[in-house]
Amino acid sequence: MLRGWMLGTASLLSFLSCAEAASIDCKPCEDWNEDQAPFRIFGDTYYVGTRGLSAVLIVTPKGHVLIDGALPQSAPIIARHVEQLGFEMRDVKIILNSHVHFDHAGGLAELQKMSGAKVIASDIAAPFLRSGTVDSSDPQFRHLPPIPGVNNVEALGERQSVRIGGLQLNVIHTPGHTPGGTSWRWKSCERERCLDIVYSDSLSAVSDDAFEYGGDKRYPNAAADMFASIAAVSSAPCDILITAHPALAGIWAVFDEQGTGDRARLVDSSACKRYGAKAKAQFERRLEHEKK
Ligand SMILES: [Zn+2]
Repeated sequence: MLRGWMLGTASLLSFLSCAEAASIDCKPCEDWNEDQAPFRIFGDTYYVGTRGLSAVLIVTPKGHVLIDGALPQSAPIIARHVEQLGFEMRDVKIILNSHVHFDHAGGLAELQKMSGAKVIASDIAAPFLRSGTVDSSDPQFRHLPPIPGVNNVEALGERQSVRIGGLQLNVIHTPGHTPGGTSWRWKSCERERCLDIVYSDSLSAVSDDAFEYGGDKRYPNAAADMFASIAAVSSAPCDILITAHPALAGIWAVFDEQGTGDRARLVDSSACKRYGAKAKAQFERRLEHEKK
């Protein structure tokens, strides 16, 4: 199912939006939203997402950071996970996002309301998070449903990092999958051992049928952006990789649904390089295919 989505077949994408409850239905949505017990990734970093869509909590004495909100219907699951770990949603002070698609940003409006957090996003992404509308330059524009608009969104501007309580989250701009995509890198420590953790945005060239990555008025820089983003993630200091779709980082080869697993096996300093190499090969195949 995930693979089908990543290959971007139009037939997968029939959406039903429920007006009464914030919920989006799509063929893989039910699988994506399956529950997953939360677990510690390393140090102050925890996995709080669903089985199919990542969300990460990083705790500090001055307040917590949450990255990504999955689907609208994932928000209560993510909030429950935060509380199961012994933390409180009202202590989440900053919310970040990989990219403004319904499966990573759909739950943010609700999570922001629960926490009162400030949401910080790239200058391109911020207005679409606020409005919930779909960016007309997005390669998937024709497939995408709108999302609930998010309050208290601040644009990143020229900042290279976001800081709170001794934690520094470094910005890695990763446009390509969307024009405003962002990845994040930070250090988490256990005693003297500090590791670089990368939360990578999607690096897949998924689009609607009309879009050409090799050159399209809708988003003329798409190919150059994608190559640059793949290079940026590949070269980032990276001991642990978490991807917006968690299966792509191999997390479920380590953890089961109960959150049990040997987390030492998540440490792999070649993970970002391998993820980047795979994304690059897939993207090159896509460009070749477009030429035919
Ligand atoms: Zn996406």
